[in-house]
Parts: sequence; structure tokens; C-alpha cells
Amino acid sequence: MQRPYNFSAGPAAMPEEVLAQAADEMLNWPDASGKRCGMGVMEMSHRGKEFLSIYTQAEADLRELLAVPSNFRILFMQGGGLAENAIVPLNLSALRSGPAARGHADFVLTGSWSQKSHAEAGRYSHTHIAASSKADGYTCIPGAASWHINAEASYVHICSNETINGVEFQTLPDLKALGSQAELVVDFSSHVASRSVDWSRVGLAFGGAQKNLGPAGLTLVVVREDLLGHALSICPSAFNYQTVADNQSMYNTPPTYSIYMAGLIFQWLKRQGGVAAIEEQNRAKAELLYQAIDSSGLYVNRVQADCRSRMNVPFFLRNEALNDAFLSGARDAGLLQLKGHKSVGGMRASLYNAMPLKGVQALVSYMQEFERTHG
Ligand SMILES: *Cc1c(COP(=O)(O)O)cnc(C)c1O
Repeated sequence: MQRPYNFSAGPAAMPEEVLAQAADEMLNWPDASGKRCGMGVMEMSHRGKEFLSIYTQAEADLRELLAVPSNFRILFMQGGGLAENAIVPLNLSALRSGPAARGHADFVLTGSWSQKSHAEAGRYSHTHIAASSKADGYTCIPGAASWHINAEASYVHICSNETINGVEFQTLPDLKALGSQAELVVDFSSHVASRSVDWSRVGLAFGGAQKNLGPAGLTLVVVREDLLGHALSICPSAFNYQTVADNQSMYNTPPTYSIYMAGLIFQWLKRQGGVAAIEEQNRAKAELLYQAIDSSGLYVNRVQADCRSRMNVPFFLRNEALNDAFLSGARDAGLLQLKGHKSVGGMRASLYNAMPLKGVQALVSYMQEFERTHG
């Protein structure tokens, strides 16, 4: 039976073959040689050889997929992107001031998520807005040359893909070229592993797993080694990057099943040809949908063309009275979770790695048919 296409923004659709593999391994996990160990992954000690092999493989596969340089540490944490909004300033805001003084952090506001990050960081550091597109309704990204970065800032925070507003950085800013000594901190929750990352520009990147990497409960942090060891004294031990790194992400019990599932996704991604291959597919999927929207009389997307997200495509019906009919017709056509975020309204189609081109083709056909019958 063909499962419906699921356009949820997160937690989001997973590749069907990954779910099938997890189901097969649920009661009795097999190692790489196929030998079953008598336990499911959820029942394993995180310090046993079975889980350690799952962990080591997942980390190695992720490092390979994202081409993470050897001077960066990969941390598997918990608390999601929202917890990182506090954990990052707790660890990095004092990079330049020393932990005795309240440090400085800068923010580029391009949508709901960066706005939240800015508000939370203010509890632990002095914050400053380097640039904002709020006045434009978060439909564009201020060019990096126009940013006013505080000379004392330890880091500049950006959200490289704004999940709710559908705005995506197509390249990461080069802070050094802008004359800043600040580190770049990137919330890449909703497009991690959908495209390559230029690590030479990044100090730290974080993301919740539930958009593009696996189930909720796992938070990925990739941090350059020299940024460890600068945490404020009030930073909880379990959230101190140095402590987490020193203990291979096992200072406290890690989210073992979520790490296992993410590991299956990494292997699936490698079978697809890796990040470069999936990036090509993501480009094609997004182009198809944006073209359908732009060429129609009924649908509209208001984001400036050069910063439209490939992952999250918000769109509106020019006649909002048709919203409910659009959504119920979509459900009947096997197209799920297209309702837009409550703060924006309208529709949103999330096209993460696990969404096949066929799913986007089915959505476009439905949209055209709906316009013919309701336009
Ligand atoms: C989903 C999301 C978050 C929040 O993640 P939680 O796991 O709910 O804390 C943060 N940032 C971005 C860009 C997101 O898409």
C-alpha cells in the first residue's frame, strides 16, 4: 500500500525503508554481520558494546556526510533547538570577556526562530541585533555587508533556514571578511544534511533531529574544538559542551533510540549518494513547487526569490475562504499536514530529504486541479 505523502514541518516524514528496517530490528537487533543479540536497541545499556557500535557508526557516517573537519567535535545532546538557545550563550557568550563578566552576543533576525534565540540569550548575555528583516515581514535576508556587528560580540547567531517564514541563507556569511572577530553560530535545525556546509565560516552549528535527521529527542551540536571550555560557571554540567565532549556525549544517558534511528537515516543518505546528491534533488523539488506557485493565479509565496527556502515552502491561497476545502481535498488525495504555522497562516509544504520528487509532483498536480475547479 502506498503511504500518503507527509509534508509536516517537524517531526517530519522518514524514509519508508528506514521505518521498515527499524520495525524488523525492534525486538532483536542484528549487528553488522547479521547476528541477532537478543535485545532491542531501547533495552541496551548505552555503555555496552552493541550500543557503542551503533553510536560510533552513526558519528562516523555523519562526519563523512557533512564533511565535518577533524578539529570539530560532534555532540549528541538533548533539549532540542530551543534548549540550545540557552546552552549556546551559557557556553560561548564569555568567549571574549572571560566568564567573570557578562559577555556579548549578536543576532541577525530573519524570522521566528532567530527572534526566539535572541530573546532567550538575553537571559545570559548582553545581546545586540546586528541586522533584522522584521520590517519586511521576514521575507528577505539583510545582506551581510549591511550588518552592524558589535566589536565586543563573542559570536553572531543566525538561523540558516527559518522553518516558519520559509527563508534560507544560500551561503553562510564570512565574518572575518566583514572585519569581525566573532564566531558564527548557526541554527541549522531544519536544513541540516539537505546541502553542504562551509565549515571554514562556522564556529558552532546546532539542530534538533526531528526535521531532517531522525526522531525528536536528539539534538546535534557540531563545535570547533577551541570553543570548548569557556562556559559560564552557572552552566549546568550536562549542558557544558566541554563535559559532553570529554564524555563522548555520555555524561548523562544519551537518547539512545533516537541516535540509532538517526544512524539508519545516515546510512540511507549514503545510499542516496550523500549530501551532494540529495542537494540536487532538493533543488529540483523546490524549483518545481515554486514554479507552480509563481505561475498560478490562486497561490502566492511572498519570500524574495533569492532567499526562498528549499525545505519549507509557505504559500497562501489568494482566496482564504478556500483554505479548508484545499486542506480537506489534499488529505483525500493522500497529501498530509499542509496547514501553515499558526503565526503565519495559509499553507506550508516541507520538502525535507525524505520527501521524494514524486510527492512534490503529486502536490503540484493536486494544486493545479484544485485551481481549475475552484479558481
Ligand atoms: C524546530 C526548530 C527549532 C526548535 O526545535 P525544538 O526541538 O522544538 O526545540 C529551533 N530552530 C529551528 C530553525 C527549528 O526549525
